[in-house]
Amino acid sequence: MSTVEIPDAAAYDIDLELRETAVRRASTIQPEDVEPASQLTFARNVFIPLTTACRYTCTYCTFYDPPGQASLMSVEEVLEVVDRGVDAGCTEALFTLGDAPDARYGSLHETLESWGYATIHEYLADACERTLEEGLLPHANPGDQTKAQMELAAPYNASMGVMLETTAEVTAHAGPRGKSPAQRLNTIKIAGELQIPFTTGILVGIGETKDDRAVSLLAINALHERYEHIQEVLIQPVVENERWRGGSPPTEVLRDTVAMARALLPETVSVQVPPNLAPVRDLLDCGIDDLGGVSPVTVDHVNPAYAWPALDELRAIAEAAGVPLKERLPVYDRFLDIEGFISEPISDAVSRDDPAGRRYRSVIEGESLYHP
Ligand code: SF4
Repeated sequence: MSTVEIPDAAAYDIDLELRETAVRRASTIQPEDVEPASQLTFARNVFIPLTTACRYTCTYCTFYDPPGQASLMSVEEVLEVVDRGVDAGCTEALFTLGDAPDARYGSLHETLESWGYATIHEYLADACERTLEEGLLPHANPGDQTKAQMELAAPYNASMGVMLETTAEVTAHAGPRGKSPAQRLNTIKIAGELQIPFTTGILVGIGETKDDRAVSLLAINALHERYEHIQEVLIQPVVENERWRGGSPPTEVLRDTVAMARALLPETVSVQVPPNLAPVRDLLDCGIDDLGGVSPVTVDHVNPAYAWPALDELRAIAEAAGVPLKERLPVYDRFLDIEGFISEPISDAVSRDDPAGRRYRSVIEGESLYHP
């Protein structure tokens, strides 16, 4: 049975010197202080909930299932979704799974073992490799990872991610199986050490304060200054569901937070707002430049009650902003030219003269055959 220990991340030593001044300054940023983006981007993906098992029990999350009820997709099931994505002109396979399932998920570990895998991370690596061969670029979100765990799937991922959510200790993360902000920061730091183009973000409305949001964004920025690996930062509002009745943050809070992110992060780091969860049209003047992954094939398995907008709606949002809408890959173009950030399997897949390679390059060159 797999026992996956995530190390304590006290080692994260982000220099937040002058932190109080920085937070005070960040907290005063308003939408008027930032410029709207000159274009909006999105990626076309399929959503693959590899397993709904998770060692944690965040109070706003409907994604995880308790032991005995958690699903685990077989490779055949994964590839069936991937094939539908290829047919629909997608480029990204978004692998979502909870944090490494603990010993409570005995039958899941038995199944993995019967398939020849010692851990969920070994299985994820194999599923990502098969997906890449099939014609989509994986982007995996396996929660917190050790360096050894991240190294397994990294070669087969165009980019990876984990939501920081918040650096604050909030009751939504508390309880006997609460996740820790330090672990999340450590995971983002490891991704930097491994030179993995990385997605992270904050969750707004889970009990954090405005100052907490500033600290979270400053912490992400500090890690990016050191490793230059952050490609996008999500500003995601928590939303009502069967486990969360705490409501969503007001639009004004989202406007201030998006503006704060835009002002604190370098221009090369995109600020993303998920269009199925946030009032995007009310945020267009606050500096968002990316609408994230949107799927014409699968639902948002993390927020199944909130449907993706049709691709036509994305175009309408861009028109409302008065800017062009551009499709992108799950890895932002600029990383393709920076040595060390793209693994050989991903580099080969993007440059190969086969249908997948041609599809990736048409997206990079803005000549996608699959415009909405
Ligand atoms: S939010 Fe993530 S870590 Fe928390 S319970 Fe859900 S899947 Fe697990």
